[in-house]
Amino acid sequence: MGTATNGKHTGGNYYLTGVSNLLVDYHIHPEYSIDAQPHGIGEYCRMAVKMGLQEICFTPHFEVDPRRRHLDWFVRLNGRMVAMESLNWVEQFFKDIDTAKKEYRDLLTVRAGLEVGYEPGQEKAIENILNAYPFDFVLGSIHCMEHIAISSRSECRQYFQGKDPLQVCRDYYAIMDKAVETGLFDCMAHLDLYRRYGQLFYGDKINKCHARLVEPVFSKMAAQNIALEINTSSRRRGLKQFHPSEPLFQEAVRCGINKFTVGSDAHKLGELGDGISDAVNFLKDYDFKPTTYKLRHPVE
Ligand SMILES: [Zn+2]
Ligand SMILES: [Zn+2]
Repeated sequence: MGTATNGKHTGGNYYLTGVSNLLVDYHIHPEYSIDAQPHGIGEYCRMAVKMGLQEICFTPHFEVDPRRRHLDWFVRLNGRMVAMESLNWVEQFFKDIDTAKKEYRDLLTVRAGLEVGYEPGQEKAIENILNAYPFDFVLGSIHCMEHIAISSRSECRQYFQGKDPLQVCRDYYAIMDKAVETGLFDCMAHLDLYRRYGQLFYGDKINKCHARLVEPVFSKMAAQNIALEINTSSRRRGLKQFHPSEPLFQEAVRCGINKFTVGSDAHKLGELGDGISDAVNFLKDYDFKPTTYKLRHPVE
């Protein structure tokens, strides 16, 4: 394992000490996301500097499924829930990013990202926001299947009920395949998200069915130079491995993927940087380091 330590847990955050690796967190939900705590971009930056992170990318949610408009199409702006479509919040987001960039200029690299919850058929809505603003980095995620959030503890049962794990994986990777084909995303987030609660519902069977289903998806990602995220949030929910699991990561490498980002998927200040040094060391064991982005291009 590399020279970075696993960090000390002191009062909610991991302080990353003795570090020679590049420590970045490329998946953070500040106050705009309604499922996140109302911590602002400035607060996250201050904590990132304190923890020894060198670069962070904010990735608020952007959901596009019209059938879930009543559930998902909201953001928090100045402490109030507002409609996601208005895009006033994106203006404010970029202002906050610019302020943080100035304030932390010599201490921290700050990037503006977006986590898009992909829904087939809604490509135009995604394209519109991506073309309208100078995002640095865009994560593509599958949060919903059949308009049910598999990322949600309370909703997932509705989707899993009556389906065998093979069907879940087959349907999930079919949507992931479409998402990759759109070419709209720089990186695919928390690849095997169905494991988050699928593990509880199906047990270990959920881990056995995906290898041959994922191969064509990985091959397309490799051909399009799309990165794969190492997402550490799985470990806060009782899973031992990251998203993706190590066998899936190895399959990704076999298929030619050579760009990986690392993200805590922090929804509160105390989750910033969580598991990041472990994820960086994990990549290092395979001779990779985290990829970073500026204006949608990997920074070499
Ligand atoms: Zn997500
Ligand atoms: Zn997220």
